[in-house]
Amino acid sequence: MHTLDKFYTGGSWTHPHSRETLEVLNPATQQICARVACANTADVDAAVAAAKAALPSWSHTSASSRRAYLLAMADAMEQRKDDLCAAHTQCMGIPAHQAYDYQVAAAIDGVRYYADACKLARVERREGQVLITQEPVGVCALISPWNYPLLQMIGKLAPAIAAGCTSVIKPAEQTPLPDMIMAQICDDIDLPSGVANFIFGIGTDIGAHLCSHKDVDMVSFTGSSAAGIKVAQSAAPAIKRVCQELGGKSALIITDGADLEGAIRYGVDNIMYMGGQTCDALSRVLIPKGRYEDAVKLAKSLTQALIIGDPNAPDTDIGPLASLAHKARVQECIKIGIERDKARLVTGGLGAPDGLNIGAYVRPTVFADVTPDMSIAREEIFGPVMCLMAYDTLESAIGIANDTDYGLSNAVWAKDEAQALFVARQLNSGQVFIQGGYFTVSAPFGGYKQSGNGREWGEAGLHEYLETKAIICGE
Ligand code: NAD
Repeated sequence: MHTLDKFYTGGSWTHPHSRETLEVLNPATQQICARVACANTADVDAAVAAAKAALPSWSHTSASSRRAYLLAMADAMEQRKDDLCAAHTQCMGIPAHQAYDYQVAAAIDGVRYYADACKLARVERREGQVLITQEPVGVCALISPWNYPLLQMIGKLAPAIAAGCTSVIKPAEQTPLPDMIMAQICDDIDLPSGVANFIFGIGTDIGAHLCSHKDVDMVSFTGSSAAGIKVAQSAAPAIKRVCQELGGKSALIITDGADLEGAIRYGVDNIMYMGGQTCDALSRVLIPKGRYEDAVKLAKSLTQALIIGDPNAPDTDIGPLASLAHKARVQECIKIGIERDKARLVTGGLGAPDGLNIGAYVRPTVFADVTPDMSIAREEIFGPVMCLMAYDTLESAIGIANDTDYGLSNAVWAKDEAQALFVARQLNSGQVFIQGGYFTVSAPFGGYKQSGNGREWGEAGLHEYLETKAIICGE
């Protein structure tokens, strides 16, 4: 069991002001895997003060110096990749053999990406009488969720470092272990004191204080829409910059003439791996009517072939969900799908998978005959639940895909790239994956509509942490 009884602030391991602790349960075994100190408002104040004190000198470091720190960080992460992977398996249940590919590798790539992007931060250009410069936003509060604990945190911290900002980092209650390792890494690489300050704690207790803090200039938040609204409300009185990455209800449109088996395989992998706990998971799959029953059969057999169980077993495809509380939420959605929506249950359903009564395990579930008005077609489930929907024309499929409060991501599998692009251009979301595309740290990521505002990753993710200044010269 890990004991996280100190925070990392101002370049040292500091004792909390609060005596409160929380227990992190391994979602597979329900055993305690960590006991964690909970910050109170005095701890938030201390972390923000450390970030504020570090800002004047850090914001004036050269791009090459910031790049060197990020490269050292990436190398150290690579050296500690086994610890980082184990931390993910222990606190959020991802199968051990998937943890590197699905969680850790992209985070390391992300740090290297922003090491190279340091040269793009703070470029100056002259347009006639106007000199346009960029400066770091300042002290940033970085609040991340439990489903991609390291990757989401790095999507904030690496561009903040590249831009010359300083940060206070607060992970989700369920997943402090990757952040503990990153705090150790910041210490090991001698990142200057106060550039990255890590505290742990309960978002509903300290979130408002952190997000409204007079010395915090920007908040970057990833999590649920409900918490995102509270974060924005806390930050609003001081007109802070708020970057929000929230939920999604993404669709995969399969067109007539597409490789149906390839598309359904891609869709099943996408929604089932990680137990559907991915904000841009393709939870709705739209299939032309003429190919619908073939698609249902394929989705059923591919889903039934998945192995769900012990995340430490080498052949496990899907581990437990991240917590029993989340399992209960997903079960409630499946119940609504069966009893209220009356969708056709193709496979899966209520209850634990055979032999998996301890732990947050959910049966991988496929619903067919889902219509746009059903709750399971509209609400984010965040679990291994696929909704198959039939459509008449491509125009109606685009209409169904866009008929959602969310706009994080969508995907198209068409007969060729030209047709996929034609559809992709009409979808209202920050990302569209075509012909089997996958997440990459160089692609701007973020939502339209209630999926959030602002962008992470890519060059756009760097610009969130920069202010633009215009200096206008006389004749
Ligand atoms: P959550 O909103 O409960 O928690 C996310 C983080 O916010 C945690 O660190 C939590 O402590 C903190 N928090 C909670 N209330 C807060 C408050 N009032 N003020 C400040 N911080 C607060 O969400 P979750 O259950 O941890 O994550 C699941 C949700 O996150 C899903 O809806 C999913 O779609 C979304 N998500 C989105 C993305 C994205 O990039 N768009 C990525 C991952 C997860």
